[in-house]
Amino acid sequence: MSETQVFKMPKIWYPEAKTHYCPGCTHGVIHRLICESLEELDIQDRVIGISPVGCAVVMHEYMDLDFIEAPHGRAPALATGMKAVRPDKIIFTYQGDGDLASIGISEIIHSMNRTLPFTTIFVNNAVYGMTGGQMAPTTLLGQKTTTTPAGRAPEVSGYPMRMSEMLATLEGPAYIERVGVTNPKDIMNAKKAIFKAFKNQVEGKGGMSFVEVLSTCPTNWGMRPADACRWLEENMVPYYPFGVFKDFK
Ligand code: SF4
Repeated sequence: MSETQVFKMPKIWYPEAKTHYCPGCTHGVIHRLICESLEELDIQDRVIGISPVGCAVVMHEYMDLDFIEAPHGRAPALATGMKAVRPDKIIFTYQGDGDLASIGISEIIHSMNRTLPFTTIFVNNAVYGMTGGQMAPTTLLGQKTTTTPAGRAPEVSGYPMRMSEMLATLEGPAYIERVGVTNPKDIMNAKKAIFKAFKNQVEGKGGMSFVEVLSTCPTNWGMRPADACRWLEENMVPYYPFGVFKDFK
């Protein structure tokens, strides 16, 4: 692969788009992997994205795709209805941990329990990002946030929730995998997982495809970008291990 090819932006990405994400935030990497996957599958004209409430609320400004905005946590319910009436469309939701694992936990469970084949990209950065770094269901034990200034303690706030493992107990989903994007090897694996999650839907495989991506939030973690990547690998990956939790092939 030539240097020019490596740095070529996917056509779906608006060339004039300037990111609003904080320096070092890995949301942008995940966006790029989505764009590359959709372009390689040549499905741009069939895709409808559902953007979340959270830091990715304006992701529609970066991609030349149809988008709809869901109220906080309700993206899977919206996707279920859309896929039911327009099975020809490729529907995906993009959700953070506050959105999916907290306020929208009922929606993701019931949507996944059905067999409608839409795709969810779940961005887990262990904190509420947009609202200023409050504890999320995925916040690690001992992790300091604005609402757990002394660190998350299980006797007060319970335990961090492993969404992929929990959702994999359902019969409905087709594919569940957890990946990361803090180094080239993990980014390449994440690309394969995101591509597969869309390909499953294109091929009409029954059930949802769900990719959890461990992502950094240097701003609310109070770290430099490189330190945030290291912190994620040393602290999040041991608790949220990478792997495939369900794959009906
Ligand atoms: S607050 Fe965190 S998740 Fe949100 S854009 Fe900034 S670094 Fe990214």
